[in-house]
Amino acid sequence: MHTQPYPTTSSSQPAATRTPAPALHLLHGMWVASCPSCGFQLATARTQERCERRAARRLCPVCHQDGS
Ligand SMILES: [Zn+2]
Repeated sequence: MHTQPYPTTSSSQPAATRTPAPALHLLHGMWVASCPSCGFQLATARTQERCERRAARRLCPVCHQDGS
């Protein structure tokens, strides 16, 4: 009787590999990264690279609200 309480969701995997790349838009000189599924704004930055990096660390709270 050593059954481990496995979570039903595969939350043990790193989120970065499961998250699709955010959609990047250049708006008024600011890069905006938004969720590719629902369009939620994930991050903003002056450069595309920084914006991508910030967005990569964020999970969309709309698409993942039932995961936490
Ligand atoms: Zn989303």
